[in-house]
Amino acid sequence: MSERLAIEGGTPVRTTLLPYGRHWIDDDDVAAVTAALRSDWLTTGPRVAELERAFAGITGTQHAVAVNSGTAALHAALHAMRLGSGDEVIVPTMTFAASANAALYVGATPVFADVDPGTLLLTVDEADRRRTPRTRAVVPVDFAGQPCAYPALGQWARAHSIRILADACHALGGALDGRPVGSLADATAFSLHPVKAIASGEGGVITTDDVDLATRARTFRNHGLSTDHRQREGQGTWLYDMVELGFNYRLPDTSCALALSQLSKLDAWIARRAAIAARYDEHFGSTGSAFRPLDPVPGGKHGHHLYVVRLPRQQWRVGRAEVFAAFRAEGIGVNVHYRPVHLHPFYRERYGTGPGLCPNAEAAYEEILSLPLFPRMTETDVADVLAAADKISRAYAAS
Ligand SMILES: *Cc1c(COP(=O)(O)O)cnc(C)c1O
Repeated sequence: MSERLAIEGGTPVRTTLLPYGRHWIDDDDVAAVTAALRSDWLTTGPRVAELERAFAGITGTQHAVAVNSGTAALHAALHAMRLGSGDEVIVPTMTFAASANAALYVGATPVFADVDPGTLLLTVDEADRRRTPRTRAVVPVDFAGQPCAYPALGQWARAHSIRILADACHALGGALDGRPVGSLADATAFSLHPVKAIASGEGGVITTDDVDLATRARTFRNHGLSTDHRQREGQGTWLYDMVELGFNYRLPDTSCALALSQLSKLDAWIARRAAIAARYDEHFGSTGSAFRPLDPVPGGKHGHHLYVVRLPRQQWRVGRAEVFAAFRAEGIGVNVHYRPVHLHPFYRERYGTGPGLCPNAEAAYEEILSLPLFPRMTETDVADVLAAADKISRAYAAS
């Protein structure tokens, strides 16, 4: 095989772009949605409660509240925790913008925290460094699918009357010391977006053991009304009270039908993700590899949403942007997760954040790349990723 990189005019490893993540819809999913479409319920119907029971079941929690995105889950949970103006919410900067934006939605201020350089997860030390008398909540992010150190975070948070909202949008199906993600914080937010572990189109779920929090989140997702239309119908009344200002964050029955059908495959899909990640680990695990996987979390069961490698600067003759472009030219749809949130123009211009605030995350950002990882990847797809990685490191890595 010619070694010339595709980006330099050589033959690409593959001719169709392999995406970094992708949903998987089968005939049974189509049948489940079709059944919902033919039922009496298009929006709030029996499948909402069914999905909520299923989520409470797999996460081992008392309550689950379905909403129409992971972002809505974060927003509703912070509202339900009674966060508001004057309150500060500690958010690791290595995340999707929604984790921080949710604090702004409730009138609170996100305070960006740095992450551990090996796992890219928030640590107690980093959180404590950002704590002030106004800190009311922390939103640890289970980056890439690994659970944060919730027992230690919980102890720290209780000592300072801080609530924990886990952003587990990457970590459905994960666990820590045998306890499922979803049960490790005061409340946990999941996303059902198509690139995540299971899909409902758009969708999200909050899990919690706190009945007050769950009730407030349910009211919030339905305009702040104290009952929904099914309850009123059951009680034979038209009366409802709007008790606070809420939103329309309801998840339709059709979406719940898809999520329920997908949920039955979760374990198999996580196992498939883990098998692919293990092949990558094996390939890149040798010391001196120019691709360095993230450190594993002790006692953690990984949700394997992302497979992130670092390209240690001293081991490359080119920068991450060149490596990114070289993968794309080979037909491998690598991505970058994430540009630290505090470096986005919105936060820099409005809140005066910028370089230097979170050095570990900023250094990581210059070196990270997400390789394709999704359950439907074939063995050939995996081999293509590794072939492209080898080809690119032979051309660009420092010898
Ligand atoms: C996907 C994601 C969200 C937002 O979820 P949506 O369903 O897209 O609104 C929030 N936080 C993290 C870490 C995510 O990956």
